[in-house]
Order: sequence, then structure tokens, then C-alpha cells
Amino acid sequence: MSKIQLKNVFKKYANSEGYSVKDFNLDIEEKEFIVLVGPSGCGKSTTLRMIAGLEEISEGDFIIEGQRVNDKEPKDRDIAMVFQNYALYPHMSVFENMSFGLKIRKLPKKEIKEKVEHAAEILGLKDLLNRKPKELSGGQRQRVALGRAIVRNASIFLMDEPLSNLDAKLRVQMRAEISKLHRQLGTTVIYVTHDQTEAMTMATRIVIMKDGVIQQIGTPSEVYHLP
Ligand code: ADP
Ligand code: ADP
Repeated sequence: MSKIQLKNVFKKYANSEGYSVKDFNLDIEEKEFIVLVGPSGCGKSTTLRMIAGLEEISEGDFIIEGQRVNDKEPKDRDIAMVFQNYALYPHMSVFENMSFGLKIRKLPKKEIKEKVEHAAEILGLKDLLNRKPKELSGGQRQRVALGRAIVRNASIFLMDEPLSNLDAKLRVQMRAEISKLHRQLGTTVIYVTHDQTEAMTMATRIVIMKDGVIQQIGTPSEVYHLP
């Protein structure tokens, strides 16, 4: 049984005419790194947001480990999400930013501290826990956003263009770090990008979308016809 199944998923926004996602079908195995690519407006973010529970699925089934979870609250899903713009709270320290999701889930203080310190260790943020986001470099902010996802211990990570605001050099570095994290944590990742190099280097399988429809699904070499 696949870990995640999307079956005949459609999305129509209330204020728009057509469907933004049409008949999306995908089975994702445990520990896969799925990369969604395609032109702007093709439905990548919408798909991710439906998986996160931030947008309602109009039609179809979203199944995790055999259970239909269409109606589960985002906070009750075994899913952590990393956004393009980091979405850090500017008035909170790095520690507070990383612990926020655990606090609202009412974890004991001691456990929160342990989890945050562990994630900070993995991400090289240990000495920056008292800083505010504006006192960090772009790469460090992106690490905090990753840290916030890591502390959740979620088995599914969703990432929506997490590197697109970084300069080229940092993108290459963070690409390697995300691949490493994926191996270390053993998570299933669904990752949205415009960047063909990111797709080629990180994906186990690539899903190409156009106008809300899946055009092709394959490994990087199948999709890009590599030798
Ligand atoms: P991508 O992430 O591939 O750029 P999106 O999923 O953001 O694409 O958008 C897919 C389509 O859905 C686009 O036509 C977009 O205009 C439309 N769309 C996205 N969000 C909304 C919304 N909140 N309300 C109405 N239409 C939306
Ligand atoms: P990058 O070029 O990688 O985005 P920056 O030039 O923004 O990095 O920052 C370089 C270093 O200076 C980083 O290690 C960061 O921690 C530190 N730094 C940046 N801004 C501040 C600040 N306002 N206060 C303290 N340290 C800072």
C-alpha cells in the first residue's frame, strides 16, 4: 500500500470559473521525494495546499496509509510545511519560531526544548536561538523554517519553492542540505519548484503539471531523457 494516495482529485476555487486542479492521480511511496514542476499557475501550490489541508479538496480522495483524510484539520495531519517566504514571525526569536507549532499542540516545555535544540543542532542554528529573523541571513532564515518543520516529527514534508528567495550559491548549498535531511529523517517529501536543476538532483520522481493536469510522471532520467 502506498503511503499517500491522491485519487481523482479536483479543485475549483469558489471565486473562479474552471478547475485549478483536474483529475490528479498519484500514489506516493514511503520516503519518496516527489517534485512538482510546471509553469506558473498550473496548480502546483493548490495541490500542496490541499495535501496540507489549507485548501478544501473539491472532489476526489486524499488517503494517507489507507485512511481518507480529506476532512482532517491541518494541525491533526502528520504533515509539516515549508513555504517560499519562510513565514517566520518577525517579533519572535529563532527558538520561539521553531517551538511555536509544538506550543499550540501543548507539548510539555521540556520536550519542546529538547526537540528545538536537536533540530538546531542538525541545522547549525544552535548559537542563533535568541536572534530575531531580521538578524539572520537568508540561508539561516530558511534553516529556521526547516527547523520548524523538523520539530514536528511529521512523516510528510511539503515544501513550496523553499529556495526561490535565495541567491544561486546558497540555493546549491541548501539543495544539498535538504537532500541530506530527507535521508536523515526518512521523511516523505513533496516539493514544488520552477527550477529544473532542483527537480533533477533531488527527486525520486517528478510530476509535470500543466493547466491543472498531470502531463507526465517519471524519474528524473525518464522525464529529462538523461543517459
Ligand atoms: P502554481 O503553484 O503552479 O503557480 P497555483 O496552484 O497557485 O499554481 O494556481 C493554479 C490556478 O488556480 C491559477 O489559475 C490560479 O490563478 C488559481 N488560484 C490559485 N489560488 C486561488 C485562489 N485563492 N482563488 C482563486 N483562484 C486561485
Ligand atoms: P548572506 O550573504 O548569507 O545572506 P548576510 O550577509 O546576511 O549573509 O550575513 C552574514 C552573517 O552575518 C551571517 O552569519 C549572519 O548571522 C550575520 N548577520 C546578518 N545580519 C545580522 C544582524 N542584524 N545581527 C547580527 N548578525 C547578523
